[in-house]
Amino acid sequence: MADPIIGGIDCDIHPAVPSQAALLPYLDDHWREMVATRGIDEFNSILYPAASPLTCRADWRPAQGKPASTLELVRAQALDPFGSSIAIANCLYGIQLLFSEDMAAAFARAVNTWMAREWLDKEPRLRASIIVPTQNVEMAVDEIERWAGDQRFVQVLLLAMGDHPLGRRQYWPIYAAAERHGLAIGIHAGSNYHNPPTPIGWPSFYTEDYAGQANAFQSQLTSLICEGVFSKFPALKVVLLESGFTWLPAHLWRLTKFWRGLRIEIPWVDRAPMEIVRSNVRLSLRPVDGPPDRDGLLRVLDHMQSDELLLFSTDYPHWQFEGTEAMPAAIPADLARKIMIDNPLATYARLKVPQVAAE
Ligand code: ZN
Repeated sequence: MADPIIGGIDCDIHPAVPSQAALLPYLDDHWREMVATRGIDEFNSILYPAASPLTCRADWRPAQGKPASTLELVRAQALDPFGSSIAIANCLYGIQLLFSEDMAAAFARAVNTWMAREWLDKEPRLRASIIVPTQNVEMAVDEIERWAGDQRFVQVLLLAMGDHPLGRRQYWPIYAAAERHGLAIGIHAGSNYHNPPTPIGWPSFYTEDYAGQANAFQSQLTSLICEGVFSKFPALKVVLLESGFTWLPAHLWRLTKFWRGLRIEIPWVDRAPMEIVRSNVRLSLRPVDGPPDRDGLLRVLDHMQSDELLLFSTDYPHWQFEGTEAMPAAIPADLARKIMIDNPLATYARLKVPQVAAE
């Protein structure tokens, strides 16, 4: 599939906060003063080191400034070349790293306001995720309520690695608010680095960190299922963003095996994990962590037992592929159309039907 399908919905792009100064107009007087007097520098990446090749594809890296930090760059490199009718902006800014609940809430609010004023107001193809200070769930819910009336926010963004498993009851008010307002929950690769990013301790290299993200997604999915999040919030949609997807069948086979044997301890999980995933969980396409050959990739997709699970994404500006071939050539055209248009529309309740041009 060399040519993009016009009108596709890109479910994971990453406009970047260009500098701490860009947020100053959107902080209140107290926090603006704190940035100056305390010398608060910008919050660096929660996953992507600035100089890493993976952080930005070489031909997308601007001569000056951060990748994806201007609307012009996003239009020219992400929206136009892929013919996207809609792209969902997931801003990765290190608010989740902070230990101060007040500071996290202030900067989450600033990033969301910056997103609304500097991006959504200026580009009708953009939608966005609400950044929330998960350090304090009450404050996170306040931030969801602040933006819930703005239909351009379609999702609440969480990280794959935080302080606690995401299925725990303490996070349920976030899911209640999301379900109430028709917002999806997006869980994106990344860590607040309050804990080692692998279950065996602190790794030495970025390669280990990045490859280890899939472990975190597996554990979060297990937590959400076993704690009963989808029994309590049956309409909730959870989207695993930048998680890869080839691990899913093997993980669900293992989880289903132990659910069968141990379900007496979690009686609220009244459906097999695969059934729960099929109704409530979706995964973004990029990075494609499967085999490059057609037969191999189609076999993996077959193991996923559903053609409704994958949502198109470019993961712009991260380096996951070359040119505009975000959709692997092995994927048949009818499935590609589902991944690019039908599945995102079925997942994000707030997406209006886009104007889809003829293929
Ligand atoms: Zn991403």
